[in-house]
Amino acid sequence: MSDPAPLPAELPVLATVACPYCSAVVPDARYCGACGAHLAAADGFRAAQRLHSYAAFPDEPVFRLAVVTSLFPHLSHRAKAPFRAGFGLVLVLVLVFALAGTSGPLIAISALGVPLLFVLYIWEVDPYEGSFLPPTFLCLVIGAALGAGWAVVGGSYVDKALLPSLFPSLTSGSSVIAAIAVPGIAQLLMCVPMLVVRSMQRGRIESLDGFVAGATGALGFTLAATVDLMAPWLSNGQLTHQSFLANVTQVILRGVTLPLVSALATGFVGAAFWAKTGAVSTSAKGEWIASPLVALVVAVIIQVGLGFADIAALSDAVLIGVNLAALGVLTLAMRAGIHHVLLHEALEVGVGPPRVCPNCVHIVPAMAFCPQCGVADRAVARPHRPSGMWLAGAAPSSPGELT
Ligand SMILES: [Zn+2]
Ligand SMILES: [Zn+2]
Repeated sequence: MSDPAPLPAELPVLATVACPYCSAVVPDARYCGACGAHLAAADGFRAAQRLHSYAAFPDEPVFRLAVVTSLFPHLSHRAKAPFRAGFGLVLVLVLVFALAGTSGPLIAISALGVPLLFVLYIWEVDPYEGSFLPPTFLCLVIGAALGAGWAVVGGSYVDKALLPSLFPSLTSGSSVIAAIAVPGIAQLLMCVPMLVVRSMQRGRIESLDGFVAGATGALGFTLAATVDLMAPWLSNGQLTHQSFLANVTQVILRGVTLPLVSALATGFVGAAFWAKTGAVSTSAKGEWIASPLVALVVAVIIQVGLGFADIAALSDAVLIGVNLAALGVLTLAMRAGIHHVLLHEALEVGVGPPRVCPNCVHIVPAMAFCPQCGVADRAVARPHRPSGMWLAGAAPSSPGELT
């Protein structure tokens, strides 16, 4: 875990301005520190919605197909490169072990690669404020138990649907169960661990904590399901009897796209659920884009769509294409939702002590958004936030009082 940035002693006197979007009196800078609007943007809609500047990583647009900054929204700017390298390493190892024909390591990296990266991320950003182990362990274990059970029960339906038939049909009874019920129920089960953690969580509740809990439970689920479904590879000669492309397709689906789709989808359901039920005031609560139910419906639709793709006898290349397309659509939808929640989660008008922004490294007053780069404070890992940020009476009452 990295150390918090050292705090500077004082800030020079700052000019202030009334934000045209939220009416708060804030430091006259590029972004409104209270509502996050991009004050430097000329267009009103562009400034307030700031689709060109993702609230968790303002140097990226909201609609960008980026794995690391989507799956790890709390990550600091400087930690992006190691996690990108870690994700690249998982992909390389998957291909190397598939080429080498070694089943054991291939199953291990497929099952553990993405979950391990996510646990490292939790360790790095410390969303549970020091109590890293209990909630993470709980999410992983409950998710894994449900995932193992689901693989045993649901896997047989998928196998039946994949068996050669004289009259192959995507609408036969076993196909419908395999394509709709199995992935749909799996998605619902993935949400169970986060509900347990939410019922135990006290104190300050933030939407990105829900993202962490949701994604952790989903990754525990996919970890166990992948081990269960790939374990026969150890004895049935899968790697020698099937073509290299068929094996790589299976490994990419099981070890890369399934965990990513599940973690992003369930993570966003968690973020929306935390925003809805949390103590933090947020004007996103009533809007459809931040609704846990809408997030869950989107997640189930994508999982069911992938369920049909699985049993539709598509070629390997098309199957990978469909899964990557689904991952792309889900990434964009989830980033739009998280961006909206972050922009509306903290409208408290307060000015805390000066600090070094962990995203842009400028010395700025601690506010809901960095006045210089616009990063949402809720997307900054807690160890990087100054304690006692919202000081009583620290909010400026008129222009010119900020120091
Ligand atoms: Zn504002
Ligand atoms: Zn900044």
